[in-house]
Amino acid sequence: MINDSQLLDQVRGWVDEARRIVVLTGAGISTDSGIPDFRGPQGVWTRNPAAERLATIQDYLADPEVRRNAWQNRLESPTWHARPNRGHQAIVTLEKRGLLHALVTQNIDELHQTAGNSSELVIEVHGTMRRAMCWSCGARFPMRDILERVRGGDPDPACPRCGGILKSDTISFGQALVPEVIDRAMEVAAEADLLLAVGSTLQVYPAANVVPIARDAGARVVIINAEPTGMDSLAHALLTGAIGELLPAIAGEAA
Ligand code: NAD
Repeated sequence: MINDSQLLDQVRGWVDEARRIVVLTGAGISTDSGIPDFRGPQGVWTRNPAAERLATIQDYLADPEVRRNAWQNRLESPTWHARPNRGHQAIVTLEKRGLLHALVTQNIDELHQTAGNSSELVIEVHGTMRRAMCWSCGARFPMRDILERVRGGDPDPACPRCGGILKSDTISFGQALVPEVIDRAMEVAAEADLLLAVGSTLQVYPAANVVPIARDAGARVVIINAEPTGMDSLAHALLTGAIGELLPAIAGEAA
């Protein structure tokens, strides 16, 4: 029976041998930065299941009350003051070592880029909350400009170009993903020799498909999370515990 420290050594060895690491991150990598996840024990939806409506496109478009609540949530989001943590830094280390092939993230906080990962390597399958988009004309705006209007007393700001409904440039439930973005995520998954799935319940599709695609293409699969995920049976190694400790322990030191 292999113990925890032997398992960590083994995975560190896999990292050292790898040439094309793909990392898939979920909300769990940002909780140490003060941004709650959705489905973890302290998750936004675990504590308040009704909050899920704010992230459902049909409710958002149909109900001005849902939009007003969503804008208040955006205004008060901890993301605006969040700093990257040791987990994010460990993925920067992988890039500095020349091992990172791509970083597929379900997160919308841009903390990977703030930490120092190259934008070209980051594939944001669920978009970014740092931009707003118009549902009618598709125009994009810096989120901070729109939030200034909310702060100034406009509870549901309309598109400055066409008057349409604005939302954050993220993928809500019921909304289609951007085909080029999700296709690229699946392509890089098939090119990986090591896949690290970090801080995700691996329940949101199609993003979670990165795991079986990488495995089918021959990659080793390591899942790093505090609790069981939907894909534990696919992992060659399961590292159960705190991301801020486990990820730096396997990423090694920057050259
Ligand atoms: P999730 O909320 O479904 O699951 C997060 C997982 O991470 C949980 O299993 C939890 O136990 C684990 N976890 C939390 N903190 C951890 C830590 N410090 N160490 C180890 N494990 C930890 O997250 P998901 O699978 O990414 O799905 C949520 C969806 O919501 C995503 O698609 C994303 O778009 C969005 N979201 C994004 C953010 C963000 O950008 N930071 C935050 C919340 C939700």
